[in-house]
Amino acid sequence: MLKTVGGAVLDLFLPPTCAVCGAVADGLCLPCATSLPAAPDRTPPPGVDHAAALAAHAGGARQMVAALKYHQHRDALVVLGPALAALASSFPGDGPDVVVWAATTAARRRRRGADQAQLLAVEVARWLDRPCAGLLVRQAGAAQSGRGRAERLDGPVYAVRGGAPPHVLVVDDVWTTGATLMAAAAALRTAGAVRVDAVTLTVRP
Ligand SMILES: [Zn+2]
Repeated sequence: MLKTVGGAVLDLFLPPTCAVCGAVADGLCLPCATSLPAAPDRTPPPGVDHAAALAAHAGGARQMVAALKYHQHRDALVVLGPALAALASSFPGDGPDVVVWAATTAARRRRRGADQAQLLAVEVARWLDRPCAGLLVRQAGAAQSGRGRAERLDGPVYAVRGGAPPHVLVVDDVWTTGATLMAAAAALRTAGAVRVDAVTLTVRP
């Protein structure tokens, strides 16, 4: 990850590279893109109408998420943005009123320099030609009492900034247990959404 050493200035002089193998490519080289493990079919989490992922969370796909998350490999956004937008376009209907992201905690965002889900959401919104908004606010250390056992295990709690329009698309990097998407959908519905869809880079089987 030579590109992260010199920061932004070095970025200007280096060609974009593949997020998986490091070859010179626009974000993801063809061999890596075509060998991503297929996403398994999973029922959307409760509260989510349609959910889909680009790939299973394994092999090159897992490396791709790590490159984006921990190494600020933004070249990959050029490829992943339109791919996620195409996935969202496969859902029935006229598309979302707004694209949001499942925000990480402020502490994690500071540590990594960016919220990878936000970077993805901005690209997806651009390709869908819809607005992107930071509606979801992750509640730091929210009280766990009164919540179900499954949520206590790994579910975040979200608040919604302002109100939510009827149809919202949530973008996240990894769909693991579904607890994050479920929490996001619950908060958005409380704030006025009647349909919540989700797209993620990877999904765990
Ligand atoms: Zn590659």
